[in-house]
Amino acid sequence: MNDAHADYAPAAPPAALPRAPLKLSCIVPAHNEEANLEPFVRALAEAVRALTPEFEIVIVNDGSRDGTHEAALRLLQGLPVRYLALSRNFGKEAALSAGIDHARGNAVLLIDADFQHPLAMLPQMHELWAMGYDMVYGVIADRTAEGSAKRLGTSLFYRLLNSGNKVKVPPHAGDFRWMDRRVAEALKSLPEHHRFMKGLYAWVGFKTAALPFVPQDRAAGASSFNLRRLGSLALLGLTSFTTLPLRVWSVVGSVVALVALGYGAWITVETLMFGNDLAGWPTLAAGIMLFSGVQLMSIGVLGEYIGRIYDEVKHRPSYLVARDEDHSPLRERSRP
Ligand code: UDP
Ligand code: MG
Repeated sequence: MNDAHADYAPAAPPAALPRAPLKLSCIVPAHNEEANLEPFVRALAEAVRALTPEFEIVIVNDGSRDGTHEAALRLLQGLPVRYLALSRNFGKEAALSAGIDHARGNAVLLIDADFQHPLAMLPQMHELWAMGYDMVYGVIADRTAEGSAKRLGTSLFYRLLNSGNKVKVPPHAGDFRWMDRRVAEALKSLPEHHRFMKGLYAWVGFKTAALPFVPQDRAAGASSFNLRRLGSLALLGLTSFTTLPLRVWSVVGSVVALVALGYGAWITVETLMFGNDLAGWPTLAAGIMLFSGVQLMSIGVLGEYIGRIYDEVKHRPSYLVARDEDHSPLRERSRP
């Protein structure tokens, strides 16, 4: 509790609410995690068993092409597992949404399948939740292991995302989260289909506490997020959480118009006073090229938003479940 991050955590913790007994739903999104899934889920089950006998592990297979499916089926024997296989790869955001939609505990834990999120933090997360915090999330305390280009991109992204936005998305907070049922219900009630989860967690609010942590190395396999996927995630975040890129063009447009007006006035005066010797066509050509570029860029930004609107109005589900194997002990209790 003592190293809860002072920047985000309220100074005085909220009054203790009775949150016992704990019934925990652990959501594990897995995309090509054949080597990690079995050892990880077993380790997770052991760590959670120390906190409560009542828990379920919701494995969401997000269109893996390796042996993740077989590994998940093996885990169904003897562990309180619910296995959801999505019909294809919908992306981590959708996989997490699928897990949250199917979770039945009074608390929900989101955790990666690759051992990067330390299981040793679970007791502390539990403790904070039991004290009354609705969401406890891990904040990456040290990004020095990442390349400097990625770090620069990340900090630029958060600066852009949070500029002029009322809801601030805490930088470097990931998907390693322990949330109360109330938060899970709030997330489920949000209607958007393209879900930028880091933004949604911040948008729903509630009492939150941040815990700094240093991600461990990936146990096996490779990260699914290459530069291209990170870029498209950043674009999703920006277009769904800020209209700044749209508004920038009004400012750029106004400044350019003002400058053009001044320049026009100056040319008029100059022509009247000194006549016109038809000089200056290179300036004209350069000006036309520059401003066509600026216009195309601004149309491109508009296009991003229109594309996002088009995607949303189609009202397609965020994910489709192809297989649902339910061995969760929380199943019986949640039936009416
Ligand atoms: N993941 C997923 N769908 C995807 C990509 C990733 O469910 O399309 C899962 C993956 O199996 C892992 C978690 O999301 O459990 C984090 O992914 P990864 O480790 O590749 O990302 P990184 O830790 O590098 O950000
Ligand atoms: Mg990872």
